[in-house]
Amino acid sequence: MSGRSQPILPGAAIGVLGSGQLGRMFAIAARQMGYRVHTFSPETDTPTGQVSDVEIAASYSDLDAVRKFAQGVAAVTFEFENVPAACVEAAAAFVPVRPGGAVLHVTQNRLREKTFLASNGFPTTVFAPVRREADLTPALAATGLPAILKTASSGYDGKGQAKVASVDEASRAFADCGSQEMIAEGFVDFELEFSVVLARGLDGSFAHWGVIQNQHKHHILDLSLAPARMNAQATNRAVDIARALAEKLELIGVLCIEFFLTKKGDILVNELAPRPHNSGHLTINASRTSQFEQQLRAVCGLPLGSTEFFSAAAMVNLLGDLWRNGEPNWPAACALPDVKLHLYGKIEPRPGRKMGHLTALAETADIAAQTVLLARGKLQPVI
Ligand code: AMP
Repeated sequence: MSGRSQPILPGAAIGVLGSGQLGRMFAIAARQMGYRVHTFSPETDTPTGQVSDVEIAASYSDLDAVRKFAQGVAAVTFEFENVPAACVEAAAAFVPVRPGGAVLHVTQNRLREKTFLASNGFPTTVFAPVRREADLTPALAATGLPAILKTASSGYDGKGQAKVASVDEASRAFADCGSQEMIAEGFVDFELEFSVVLARGLDGSFAHWGVIQNQHKHHILDLSLAPARMNAQATNRAVDIARALAEKLELIGVLCIEFFLTKKGDILVNELAPRPHNSGHLTINASRTSQFEQQLRAVCGLPLGSTEFFSAAAMVNLLGDLWRNGEPNWPAACALPDVKLHLYGKIEPRPGRKMGHLTALAETADIAAQTVLLARGKLQPVI
């Protein structure tokens, strides 16, 4: 069903597999343009479900439920990439699934992803597979030490990852992760981390939001700013890689590429996410077309929108930890005129859980970053 070339018009229902904040912001963009949204996940009263027309609560392995869901919509997209392949296939028997199952297959497994990247000439850090204990010594000989060990599948926000300085440490990390398939990566001494969020339309058109700089805390994205503090040459190289990768994957939809800029000035691809990304949230307020509207346009076969920025911007995540001393002081942050508040409707503010974000627009990315950090600082109630 992926070959359908007629645009899916407003009024149609779009299905979202997954029900977190990425689906929520997609649903808001879709409803703004007159589409209906159906969401499918194992939970109820979800961030996406709260703003959708229909919320289906069923397991991703309940293929009858998936088929019924697919028959009620004109196309299916997803908001997290760990949807089982069988679920995507069941939906694809009825309607286009965009991005397609082949893109998911590559990006669901870090080893497959890095192998795909390296074999197509895209720059990555050196890596090697670790499938059993005996692989550790040759893998670390290839990567050098220190190295990063990551589970090949199901890792996110630094979960299932360890920096190791010896084979012994690697053995312990491998055992701690249940001796499942892992990837060993050469440790990158990076100058900065950045991402390119891009979209590719049904007609092969390409759009991107340039380079966005990312800072992580405890492996979770903390601050993004656009444009990244990088020179034009490195920026152009990253965008060229983004365009080539979107073509190679025959992507229809939005993709985020996370990169390292090394101290020597090289660019390495770290990770792909075949959907809107946390680092692209600032496009909601800062760009003519947000990453979520662009996802909708691509999935529906509409022309892509302009990705021009109104101004430089910065975004900070609001994690559950902020609720430690009670409800954050929302009016104090909202009192800053260039700051926008986004909350995801999550009921329980657990530590490390992404509850929302703030975006600030300013003349430069540095001023925007200062402003948005100031705003977040005001959220902590003083007790
Ligand atoms: P990932 O889950 O692959 O995005 O990794 C989460 C974070 O860990 C990255 O954003 C980096 O800050 C760090 N990291 C991951 N891989 C490497 C690496 N090979 N070298 C250095 N730092 C890394």
